[in-house]
Parts: sequence; structure tokens; C-alpha cells
Amino acid sequence: MSNLVDALRERRTLSDKGLRELLESDDEGLVEALHRNAREVAVEQFGKVIWLRALIEWSNVCRNDCLYCGIRRSNTNIVRYSLTKDEILQACDLAWQLGLRTFVLQGGENPPAAEKLTPVVAEMRASWPEAAITLSLGELPYDTYALLRRSGANRYLLRHETANPAHYGRLHPAGMKLENRLACLRSIRELGFKTGTGMMVGSPFQTTDDLIADIRFLESFRPDMIGLGPFLPHHDTPFRDYPAGSADLTLRIYSILRLMLPQAWIPATTALATLRPDGRTAGILAGANVVMPNFTPVERRDSYALYDGKSRPGAEAAETLQQLKSELDTIGYHV
Ligand code: SF4
Repeated sequence: MSNLVDALRERRTLSDKGLRELLESDDEGLVEALHRNAREVAVEQFGKVIWLRALIEWSNVCRNDCLYCGIRRSNTNIVRYSLTKDEILQACDLAWQLGLRTFVLQGGENPPAAEKLTPVVAEMRASWPEAAITLSLGELPYDTYALLRRSGANRYLLRHETANPAHYGRLHPAGMKLENRLACLRSIRELGFKTGTGMMVGSPFQTTDDLIADIRFLESFRPDMIGLGPFLPHHDTPFRDYPAGSADLTLRIYSILRLMLPQAWIPATTALATLRPDGRTAGILAGANVVMPNFTPVERRDSYALYDGKSRPGAEAAETLQQLKSELDTIGYHV
């Protein structure tokens, strides 16, 4: 059976039948071979080095109402906030001092506010010319993407969430369309951003066929970064009673994608670390090569709960970073 893994590693693709087997098999030896091969490919590409990205959750104000998301517009039980320019720059400064060279500004979808972020991005670019500036601000007009790009942002993350339009329709309110999301991804790439996309694993109504379609989409789109985490329910959303996605399945998909797209940046996500305490190291041992420590001011972190139980250390960034380095050390990796 591990012939499947060998074939995937060698050819960087696999039939739908083979993918289904890798996703559904209860053969532990096969799963172990999948993770081991993915790990070897990641080490060939990057060494035993994990890349850190400083996550700054700049605003939880969002115009959308995605059915799975704790900061959806309809949730009136959270305190809305947007970080000030000074708060953002202070977070970047701290991250830079601690050795991080990529800032990730993530927030709800709010086009007017995104446009107003332009001078902040320009100031970040002027202050840290060598840093990578990643944005994750949802679907925006082309001109706003272009403005942000000209201001100095050079990477953009926009998860497609599911490549099946009917499934997309069950996760999002009427009016949100997969085709718009994909058009945004094409615009982002055309503007020269390094582009990231990805999906939830185990979202309500998802089937193995949907996951295979997701993997095929990623295989053909070839994103520079892949954001992938298990679905986790939030108590103030319509999906509050749906079960969480599976960590095991998420890890299998990390490994499949590492074998398909050896050079992709794949973070071991916070959602995975929320589902199981060793999620970050398990993710790395399955082929992930990025971790995104949280640099959002501690007092704001509770208001950015996309799902319940989110792993959000109350500790300051320096302390969290030290813990992370020790964790990585236990599996023989370093930053
Ligand atoms: S998933 Fe993103 S776009 Fe959807 S409600 Fe949450 S923050 Fe807004």
C-alpha cells in the first residue's frame, strides 16, 4: 500500500482513487509512511528549520456572515475592535526585535477599512524594508488589492474554503459565491502577491469527494502558501452543534500536499493546536514548515475568537516564542 505514497512522492500527483485511499484508509502503516515521506521531503526542501510569521489580528469587524465563523456580522456577543496604527507598528517592532521577518495582518472583510490600511502598510514597508508583509483581509475590490500591493504588501492569504460550489453555498450566506473568491485569488496573483489559499477540514456537509476536489484545486492553482486547519465550531454560530474536524485527517492532508507541492509554505495552524495539544509538532512531523506566533496585543485576543477553545496564549509574545522554540527542540527542529 505504501506504493501509493511512493507514487505520490515520485510523480507529485495521484489518481482520485489513490487520494481516497490515503484519506480514508485505516492502515496505520500507510499513514505513517505518508507522514514520514512528507517529513523527508520538507527536510530536503527546508532543512529542519521552521519559519515564523508574526500574526497580528488587526480587526474583528467583518461585513460577512460565514456560518462557521465566530466573528461573523450577526454575532452581537463580541466586542468589536480595530487596532490603531501605533498598535500595529508596535506589534511589528516587537516581532522584528524577536527575530521574525514576516508580518501577517489578518482581519475581517471590511473593504473601506482595508483601503484605510494603505498608509499603515506603507509605513511598515518604510520601517522594515526587508520584511515580508502578508495580508489576509478577505475579498476586496481589485483597486484596493492594487493599492495595498503598491503600498508594499507582498503576500496575500485568502482561503477558498471548499472547491465545491454547492458545498460553498452551504457554508456561506446567499450572495457569497465561490466564483468571486476564485476571481479574487486570480487578481491577487496577477498583481504579483505571493498567494496563499486553503480550506477547513471536516466542515459541515464536507465529503471525501469535496476534499479530493480541494486537493485538485490546490494542485492546479499551485499556491505559494497553504492554510489548512480542522473545522472547529463556535457557540455563537449556526454551526455550533456540528462536530469538530479530525486532526488525523488534517495531518494526512498536510502530508499529501507536501508531497504534491514540495516548495509550498504550510503552517501548522492554531486550529490544529487547539484540537490537540501537540498539534504544532504533529503538523511539522507531517510536513508543515511554518508556525505563526500571535503578536496581537494580549488584551485583544479574546475578541478574535473564530472558533471555540482557540489556543490563544495569554503570555506575552517573547515568552510564547521561547515555549515554541523548546517545543521544536524536542522534535529536533529549530527556527
Ligand atoms: S470567515 Fe472571514 S469573511 Fe467570513 S465572517 Fe469570518 S472573518 Fe468574515
